Amino acid sequence: MNGKDCDMKISEFVKKVKEKEIDVVENTKKVIEECKKINSEFHYFNVICEKEAIAQAKEIAENPKGRLAGVPVSVKDCICVKNIETRAGSKILSGYKPTFDATAVERLKEEGAIIIGKTSQDEFGFGSFNTNVGLGFKVPLNPHDKNRVCGGSSGGSAGITSKSDFVHISLAESTGGSIAAPAAFCGIVGLTPTYGLVSRYGLLDYANSLDKIGPMAKSVEDAALILEIIVGHDEKDSTSLYEPFEKYTSYAGKEIKGMKIAVVKEAFGQGIDAEVSKKVKEALHALETKGAIVEEVSLPLTFKYSLSAYYLIATSEASTNLAKYCGMRYGISGKLEGNFNEYFSKIRSENFGTEAKRRIMLGTFARMAGYRDAYYLKATQVRTKIIEEYKKIFADFDAIITPTMPMVAPKIDETKKLTPLQNYMSDILTVGPNIAGLPHLSMNVGDKLPIGIMIVADHLMEKNLIRLGSAIDSAYGGK
Ligand code: GLN
Repeated sequence: MNGKDCDMKISEFVKKVKEKEIDVVENTKKVIEECKKINSEFHYFNVICEKEAIAQAKEIAENPKGRLAGVPVSVKDCICVKNIETRAGSKILSGYKPTFDATAVERLKEEGAIIIGKTSQDEFGFGSFNTNVGLGFKVPLNPHDKNRVCGGSSGGSAGITSKSDFVHISLAESTGGSIAAPAAFCGIVGLTPTYGLVSRYGLLDYANSLDKIGPMAKSVEDAALILEIIVGHDEKDSTSLYEPFEKYTSYAGKEIKGMKIAVVKEAFGQGIDAEVSKKVKEALHALETKGAIVEEVSLPLTFKYSLSAYYLIATSEASTNLAKYCGMRYGISGKLEGNFNEYFSKIRSENFGTEAKRRIMLGTFARMAGYRDAYYLKATQVRTKIIEEYKKIFADFDAIITPTMPMVAPKIDETKKLTPLQNYMSDILTVGPNIAGLPHLSMNVGDKLPIGIMIVADHLMEKNLIRLGSAIDSAYGGK
C-alpha cells in the first residue's frame, strides 16, 4: 500500500547489516546520493549531512550493534542534531548548530541510526501544507503529484519517507496535526504519541503544552519500533512521563477481534470530501470483517470549539517561545545599531516570514493584560472540556476513527488563494486529539492520491493504534 519497491522491514534490514549482507557504508553513500537527486526535484531537505552520515556509517560498520544498526534517519528541522544546522525552517536561525542532540535523536543514535539530514517544514511548524516555509526555503512537492502540497508542517519528513526506495524512517513533530496531516497527504504512516511520552528536550518549541515528537515510517511495524526506542522519562524534560511503556512492536499483527471502534459522526459530514469518506468507510468495513465492532458516536464540543481553542493556545505559547529569537543568542545576528528595541525589531522584521509574524501578533494579543482571561485562559478551560468529552467515549471504546484530513492534498496554487482562517480550518480533524494530548496514527487507505485514515486512542494506549493500524496494513497488502 505504500507503493514503494522497498519492502524490507527495519528489523530485516538490521539483521542483514549484522550478518554483513548489507555494507552500511556503501548503503549510506547510495542513500545520500539518492536523497540529493530527490531533493533537487522535490525539496525535502534543508540540510543533507553527507560527511557526518558517512563517518557514522563507518563506525557502525565496525561495530554493528543496536536495533537500528545502519538505518538511515531524517530529522525534522526543528529537532536538534549535534553540530548540524538546525533552523526549524526559519531564516532567523541561519547558522545555528546545536552543541547537543535532542533526547529522541540521542536514543536513535544509541541504537545505531544514521542521521542523513534535516527535513523541510513550515517555519516553526506554523502551517498545514508546508507552504509557509521560511524566507529563502523551497516548498516541498508532493511525491505523488508535484503540483500538490506535501502537507505540513512535517512535509519534508513525509515526502522523503514516501519517495525513498530505501529503508528509512523520519523523526517528526506535531503540535496540532503536523505528523498526521503530511502522513495523510503523502501516503505514509505517521504516529503522534501521547503528550509527554517522548521527551521534548532538544525540540525548538512551537507550543510547549502541545508539542510531541513522533515517527514517520513506511509501515506500522516500523513506526512501532521507533516509538519503542524514543519513549521513556527524561530528566531534562519535566513534562516527560514516568509511565511504564509497552513493547509496541508485539502488538503488530495481533488479532483485533472484539475491539470496539467509535466512528465520529461529525467527521463524515459537511466539508469532508466524498471520496475521502468513502475510502475511510471501506477501511472500517475491512476492520469489521476482521472482527472489530464499529459504532457511531458524536463529539459535538470537540468539533465546535477545538479549532478556536487550539489556535489561541498555540499562538499564545508560540509568541512567547519566539521572543528569544532576536539576533543576540541564536542564529542570525546583525550590526548593533540604535537601541535594543530598534535592533530586535529590525532583525525580527527582516528574518521572520509572514505567517510567523501573524502568529506572534495573534498570540501576543491573546495574552495581553485584559484579554488573557477572555482568550488564553478560557481556551485552556475549553481544552479540559474537550478532554472530558473524549474520555467519555474511551470509557466504552478502544479507539476512535475519522479521516485524517478533509480532502486529498490540494494543489499548491489553490492553497495560495486561501485566507488564513480557511487554512486553519483544514485542521478540523487533527486538532481534537492534539489539544487533548491523545495518541493518534494516520495511514494511507487511498489508491490514486493518498487518503489518510486516523486512529485515535486513549492516553498511553498506543498499543491500540499499532493493533488496528497493522490490521489495516495487512488488509491493504502492506508489509
Ligand atoms: N497546522 C497546525 C498549525 O499551523 C499544526 C502545526 C503543527 O502541528 N506543528 O498550527
